[in-house]
Parts: sequence; C-alpha cells; structure tokens
Amino acid sequence: MVREFEPVLPPYRIKVVEPIAFLDAKQRREAIEAAGYNPFNLRADQITIDLLSDSGTGATSDAQEGAAALGDESYAGARSWFRFHDEVTDLTGYPFILPVHQGRAGERVLFGSLLKPGQICLSNTHFDTTHANVELVGAQARDLPCPEAADLDSAEPFKGNIDLAALERALAGPNGGRVGLVLMTITNNGLGAQPVSMANLRATSELCRRHRVPFFLDAARFAENAWLVHTREPEYRDWTPRRIATAAFQYADGCVVSLKKDGLSAVGGFIGLRDRQLHAACEANLIATEGFSTYGGLAGHDLERLARGLREVVDPAYLRARAASTARLARLINEAGVDTVQPAGIHALYLNAGRLLPHLSPERFPGHSLGCQLYLDGGIRCAELGSLYLGTLDDEHRLVTPAPFELVRLAIPRRVYTDTHLEYVAATLADIAKDPERVTGYRIVSAPPLLRHFKVRLEPVSAGT
Ligand SMILES: *Cc1c(COP(=O)(O)O)cnc(C)c1O
Repeated sequence: MVREFEPVLPPYRIKVVEPIAFLDAKQRREAIEAAGYNPFNLRADQITIDLLSDSGTGATSDAQEGAAALGDESYAGARSWFRFHDEVTDLTGYPFILPVHQGRAGERVLFGSLLKPGQICLSNTHFDTTHANVELVGAQARDLPCPEAADLDSAEPFKGNIDLAALERALAGPNGGRVGLVLMTITNNGLGAQPVSMANLRATSELCRRHRVPFFLDAARFAENAWLVHTREPEYRDWTPRRIATAAFQYADGCVVSLKKDGLSAVGGFIGLRDRQLHAACEANLIATEGFSTYGGLAGHDLERLARGLREVVDPAYLRARAASTARLARLINEAGVDTVQPAGIHALYLNAGRLLPHLSPERFPGHSLGCQLYLDGGIRCAELGSLYLGTLDDEHRLVTPAPFELVRLAIPRRVYTDTHLEYVAATLADIAKDPERVTGYRIVSAPPLLRHFKVRLEPVSAGT
C-alpha cells in the first residue's frame, strides 16, 4: 500500500553541479531596489532559488550531453535533424514536422499561415506570447476556460478544460464563421497548471470537425498533461504517459510546441501538421525567418539533446517523482497557512497572495508584493500572476480593472532542485505567513505599453498611503 506522501525517488543522481548564490539581507535589499523591484531585472547570480520559469531551465542528462557531441551541423539534411524528426513523428503521429528555435517562433509561423485578420482564435486559455501572436496577425484571441477553473480551492481533476458548452455556442453562433482556429493549451499554464482531460480533447476534436474548424494543441507540457491524465482519468490508468500523449496529439490537426519545457532542453520547439498545403505555407515562412526546414534556428547538438529529451520526459519514473516533489512542496506550503491553487499541478504552484495579504488592495499588487518579500527574505525569485500582469492600468499607471485573482507562480525547473531546496522555499513562506502584515505594497513608477510585466519598474509604498 502506497501512502500518499511516501518519498518517491527521482530515477537519477547528480553528476554535474552549479553553485548558487547566498546574498545577505542587505545585499538582497540593494539588489531588488536596483532592479526597480522587478524580479526580471535581477541578475541570476543574485538569486538563491530561481522559480521564475520552468522554461529552458531544466537539467540535461549524461545521455543528452553524450548525444550532443554527435551533433551534425550540416546546413541541410543533417543526421541530427533526422533523429529529431523521427522521434517527434513517432511521438505525435503527424506527417509534417517543422523545427523552430522556441515555441513563440512556431506560433508566429503557424498563425501567419493559418489565421486571417478579423478571425477568432478560441482557447481554454492562451499563453501570453500565444495571445500576442494571434493579435499580431490581426485576429482576436478569446479564452473559454471551464467554469470549474474559477474556484481556486476545488479539487476538480481537470480544471484546465475548455468550456464545451461555450465552445459549441461560439462555433454555432453568429460569429462562428469567423473562428479560424481552436487551440488547446496542455497543461493550462495560464490557469494554475491544470490539466486537460482526454474526454475534453475528444469532445473538442469532434466539435471542431463538425464545424470544419482546425483544432491544434499548444503542447508545451504534453508529458505532464499525460501524467495527470494517467493518474486522474480512470480510463487511462493502464496507459503509459507516452501512449496518452500520442493519443492526445491524434485528436488534433496539428500542434505548436515549445520544447523548452518537456523537451528537457534549453532551446527548441516544433510545429506538427497533417495538412500538406499548410505545411508548404509554413515551410516557406520558416525558411525566410527561422532557418532551413531541417534545422529551424537550432544547432545540430540542440536537435540531438531534444531527440533524447523527448524519450526521457515520458519515463513514468521521472514523471512520478516530479509530480510527487511538487505535491510535497504544495503540502508544506499549505500546512504553513498559505493557500495554493488546487489541486497541485506539476510544473508550478500558484500561491493565493490575495488571500494571504488582505491588508493589500489590488492597487498595491499583493502578488507582486509577496514575490518581492520571497526575494527579500530568502533570495527566491518567482513571477506574479495578478493585477500587475493581467490588470488594466490608466495613463498614470494606476490600476483600473484588477485581475480576477492575485497569484504568484512558483515554477519548478526540471531535475534541478532537490526536496531540500524546496523545503527552504516552504520555510521562507511559512515565516511570511506568521506575520503577513509586514509585507508592504508597491506602486508602478514606469511601465512599457506592451508585455508590461517584463520591464515594469516599481517602488514600495509604506502602510496607509
Ligand atoms: C512557453 C510557452 C509558450 C512559448 O514558448 P517559448 O519557447 O517560450 O517561446 C507557448 N505556450 C505555452 C503554453 C508555453 O508554456
């Protein structure tokens, strides 16, 4: 009998290590002040535990690094391309594969050929660059998350699903003819790392087929979604994560994938397609902007690391250990009195900063405030997902419409931190939770008009102002 939180051993040991920095409290205060209180402006060597992103931050294996030495850097038709191509074809089942240097390059190439100005792209939730790339071609991005997603505390297993009733209404409604694409993000990164069920993918696929609308996956975390399907959707209990992932790809007409996540590598991505004509259009765009269609902006050694990474990432022992490690961190944080979006996903935990810091109104950006405090107290870097990122501001950078929730995302890099590192994060949070009122709010000093969170600068606001 397996107890719920029995230690689950990762199926690897550590061979190469990288030092991390330990600044004292005064150094951290100076560093975050010089960064305009924006963690994106910190230097990596000012950070003890970096939970800003799980993208491109994972550790590679000895097999990947060994393979990298075999990288064939021929301009066209390199051996490394064929190894990558065969691995991706085998995983996805799509007849046409185009390599790209990262996910958003794939978005730009795909949407440029698939979407026309005035069309609508529907999604369970668009990722930020995906949203931007839809709108850059003159189309509109609309999110249709399932209603269960609005309850952060419920234990519903598939809160990443698309709202099928709303999708059907949109496809059958007066603007149905304008829908140029339905894009399902697995797992749903914008909404608490929640997975999408196979039943939801199947139903979406049928709806799209009936209405003759292309259905694509934004599958940056295809392996983690497959693991959550394996553990939460009873029909798939006996399926391997790899088989589940392949079945998910088969529900769609194609995919765009950032391999900086489940590719277990620092760069990479691909577009997978069934349609020959769409492939020809995308290929022309790719060659003009990314690189020839057998490398797409990637080096041969990157393609080699990715080909191995795509095998390692669907290893059940790896996925089980990674999911267990995130679940353990969630339990420690919850026991310390800090709520997280339930149930815990795999690549990140989302702290409910709005609930922890009721003394800070949305105008004082409680999520951002908690993120800064984690850096000030523990050298921990993370990302706000609240009103600073998603709210609307007036010309003086004052908040007009707050985000629905004030969250902080702790993204967990793959194979990088041990449970001891994560215990330190939980302990730092526990200290904050003992006296949350000492956390000060912030106001914006300057902000760029687009993708604000990357370059915004702020200053602390003392209580009562
Ligand atoms: C990271 C990500 C992207 C963009 O990929 P990049 O490799 O960062 O360009 C798109 N969609 C989702 C869901 C992602 O997580």
